[in-house]
Amino acid sequence: MKASDDILVIGGGIVGVSTAIWLQRKGFAVTIVDREGFAAGTSYGNAGILAASSVIPVTTPQLLPKIPSMLFGRDTPLFLRWTYLPKLLPFLLHYLGHANRKDVKRIAEGLANLMHDSAEQHYALAKGTPAERYMKHSDYLHVYPSRQAFEKDAAGWETRTELGYGYTELDAAGLAEYDPALANRFGYGVLCPESGQITDPGEYTRALGQHFIDQGGRLEIAAVEEIITENGRAVGIRTSAGEMQASRIVVASGAWSGDMVRKLGLKVPMESERGYHVEYVNPNLHFRVPFMVTEAKFAVNSMEGRLRCAGVAEFGGLAAGPSRQPVEYLKRRTASLFPDLEYDDVRVWMGHRPSTTDSMPMIGTLPNVPNVWAGFGHQHLGLTGGPKTGRWLAQLVSGEMPNTDLTAYAPDRFS
Ligand SMILES: Cc1cc2nc3c(=O)[nH]c(=O)nc-3n(C[C@H](O)[C@H](O)[C@H](O)COP(=O)(O)OP(=O)(O)OC[C@H]3O[C@@H](n4cnc5c(N)ncnc54)[C@H](O)[C@@H]3O)c2cc1C
Repeated sequence: MKASDDILVIGGGIVGVSTAIWLQRKGFAVTIVDREGFAAGTSYGNAGILAASSVIPVTTPQLLPKIPSMLFGRDTPLFLRWTYLPKLLPFLLHYLGHANRKDVKRIAEGLANLMHDSAEQHYALAKGTPAERYMKHSDYLHVYPSRQAFEKDAAGWETRTELGYGYTELDAAGLAEYDPALANRFGYGVLCPESGQITDPGEYTRALGQHFIDQGGRLEIAAVEEIITENGRAVGIRTSAGEMQASRIVVASGAWSGDMVRKLGLKVPMESERGYHVEYVNPNLHFRVPFMVTEAKFAVNSMEGRLRCAGVAEFGGLAAGPSRQPVEYLKRRTASLFPDLEYDDVRVWMGHRPSTTDSMPMIGTLPNVPNVWAGFGHQHLGLTGGPKTGRWLAQLVSGEMPNTDLTAYAPDRFS
């Protein structure tokens, strides 16, 4: 076995990098192991929104009657690779089993605990590092075609209010006043304060990774094949580049984490919720703040020299390449919302959201192997919740108890 630093973090996405930096700040020697490098996975192409108030899960009671038309309709934001359905079915049944009011409330509370202070957590992580320049405080807007469409979402907004989130409603004139670039495009909007914007999520995560290295951290490029255990404790990892020793291991490899910890006896009902972005280079349109086009299920964010439209959901597993239909959908909907959009080039990307059946991440120690910690499963919200997850994990790994109840995220809750 190759001698290694003390703590290994598997995965160089936003969760892994945040965890590694917080561990480093506690004085540990840390190595990040990633098969490609920093921001090689989902942290590269997301919508860049610190969506502190986006605590309502996808699985709501309102979703259930819409599923057939979402799956079979032509212009809908939900996609399925039908050949994947047999494999997906057990996950799907449990996932949809949470589409009830009681679970929505419980999940919203758990996500709020993780995300309510997201912008502050990002500042605490990135301040004074080269990553700071990609981070902006900003409002986050949800736009609707009409007030009636907003009213159909009333349950979600009521739950947010109960959890202490404030927001401002804007009619079409209010939207145009808030941002003239929005004039005559949407009928109604809801403005959420205390959010944030990352102007380039890939570069942001890489800059954090570079900061970690500048502070003495190590990056090892290798694909992890398995965690090696002896007498109920992890002693290292087997990788494509050989074996590495470790006294403590954090698994933060996003949607690819499942198999790694299933081999250690943990039940992980997690699927990739594939999402896409279409990015318009040198656009003539620039929006003041990022916004979610609620009925089309994608977000729009003006980034550095690009307009990124990112979202939709496709179930099709980790192995299959990108599909044509979600990209065409995003392009078609963008063209109809912004017929005046001009640009030099278009870029397309697909990423894997790590989604558990109960929409909650797994954060904490593995009961069977107590020197391994899980830090994955952040579904649509890993950029928002990544830094705080990293802070909590660094506390847990160093034997401190975070000043919060982590039961909702317990990795063994499905076992
Ligand atoms: C279209 C889209 C839009 C989104 N928009 C937002 C948003 O606006 N706000 C928000 O908060 N969230 C958003 N998300 C979700 C967010 O991007 C993810 O939740 C988050 O990036 C997950 O981070 P991670 O560090 O867990 O995983 P990743 O970023 O996927 O990192 C995992 C890393 O592990 C590495 N890896 C995997 N397997 C191995 C292995 N065997 N050995 C070594 N390394 C391995 C990969 O190379 C990768 O670098 C969006 C997602 C999508 C798809």
